[in-house]
Amino acid sequence: MGGRSSKNRSWEPSSFQQDLSPGYNNEHSSIPRPLTPNVFKQQGVPEIERPPSILYVAVYDYEPRTPGDLLFKKGDHLEIIDNNHTDWWRARSRTNQMEGYVPANYVAPVRSIEAEPWYFGSILRVDAENLLLRSRNQDGSFLVRASESRYSDYALSIRLGVEVKHYRIKQEKDDIGNKVFFISRRKTCVTLQELINHYSNNNDGLATRLTKPCLKAGAPLTATLSYNTQDDWEIPRSSLKFERQLGQGQFGKVHQGLWNGTVPVAIKSLIPGTMDPHEFIAEAQIMKKLQHEKLIKLYAVCTTEEPIYIVTELMKNGSLLDYLKSSKGRQAKLPKLNDFAVQIAWGMSYLEKMNYIHRDLAARNVLVGQKETVVKIADFGLARVIKEEEYEARAGAKFPLKWTAPEAINYGKFSTKSDVWSFGILLTELITYGQTPYPGMSNNDVLLMIEMNYRMPIPAKCPQSWYDIMLKTWESDPMRRPTFKNLRSTLEELLFNGQKSSESSDGSLT
Ligand code: AMP
Repeated sequence: MGGRSSKNRSWEPSSFQQDLSPGYNNEHSSIPRPLTPNVFKQQGVPEIERPPSILYVAVYDYEPRTPGDLLFKKGDHLEIIDNNHTDWWRARSRTNQMEGYVPANYVAPVRSIEAEPWYFGSILRVDAENLLLRSRNQDGSFLVRASESRYSDYALSIRLGVEVKHYRIKQEKDDIGNKVFFISRRKTCVTLQELINHYSNNNDGLATRLTKPCLKAGAPLTATLSYNTQDDWEIPRSSLKFERQLGQGQFGKVHQGLWNGTVPVAIKSLIPGTMDPHEFIAEAQIMKKLQHEKLIKLYAVCTTEEPIYIVTELMKNGSLLDYLKSSKGRQAKLPKLNDFAVQIAWGMSYLEKMNYIHRDLAARNVLVGQKETVVKIADFGLARVIKEEEYEARAGAKFPLKWTAPEAINYGKFSTKSDVWSFGILLTELITYGQTPYPGMSNNDVLLMIEMNYRMPIPAKCPQSWYDIMLKTWESDPMRRPTFKNLRSTLEELLFNGQKSSESSDGSLT
């Protein structure tokens, strides 16, 4: 078989080139973040004339994890006295005058929209629906999200019975050049807050009056474990407590654990010799900067001795593959599977935008959260640093050939487009509840047949619309395959087909 010989395996440094400047992910993250991560600098205030502090409000409660942290409660006012780092700032509490570090995504400038309980940032429309339809919400429960269709716009999502209605909030300059917000031109508002007040008092053409802000799912994850680990993320092994084994992957065991006795984490211990620690550290530096709602957060590493530990966000329901095969997973209907596909495509479109290649996209490398509506992509980029001989020897017949694009198998040409091919295979895993692709065929058969233009036939019960997408992802010419951005919007259209969004047209409220 073609295999991945050392000749054709590409070990070029990661093609990841873009600037990952602080705040890049703001437009993608669902975590309400201050609009200006470095307020002092962005306001152009010279260092020497800095105001003593800027007032923020806590959007969530925070329990200290390390001795330098500041304890605060939702609603507390905090003076930010140092915001030179992206993820952790130094603050002074107006409640008790104590000082300490606070996670930047737990606070927002007083009176900003991020401080509003109804503002949910850049979340997917499907996630907005999943949140609003939770039982604790009611008719008229609502949220505002940064619109997916245009970055400058917002969308208002409102629960009505077992449905969610979406309205586009537009922004324009009025006659005298001031920015105004509106859903219908009949009523323009100077701020989003004013618009929300207006529709809370009177439905004025909306399907219902706004009642209560959608309940938040809980405090968000912090971007890094603590102030101290944001730059130096090599952590002592002693700070990790192993609790129970979660699974056994190809390259080692995964445990649930606790960092510093406070933060639940997943700890992956790599079988000694699997990776060159230096190569791993170099790649992990990049992986750490990839921050997106649909990517597992890489928190810290222990690389000074073997086994190497990789410490990540914990996902309570394990791998999507196991979930799909479980009795709970088998009850998932097409919309839920479609919803998973949209989330994965969103995460992958972020990697696409960042020019970063996953190389091993498959249901086994997607994890399911505590809320079974949430999935996230794991193990991005790891395949690149697995030692060649280890990969061949250990994986052998297990090499993910059925997921890998032909140009990647034959010539080592991994690209976002080879990830797109794998995504098409992942769609077959979703629709068949975790069946191995190309049932009844060996790896060798698949390799030969694909070269002869054979493609997996339509799986049982698979809608034609899904199969059409799969076939596009398996075009022989990588350039003819769709982008993840396109895949996401196509899958979203499928999901929302029949319940047309009102986001598209001004004033036409549905
Ligand atoms: P892997 O080595 O990544 O293939 O992981 C092996 C198994 O460990 C997976 O199938 C999951 O069940 C579990 N696992 C891996 N990472 C996590 C995580 N971050 N949270 C929860 N479970 C995980």
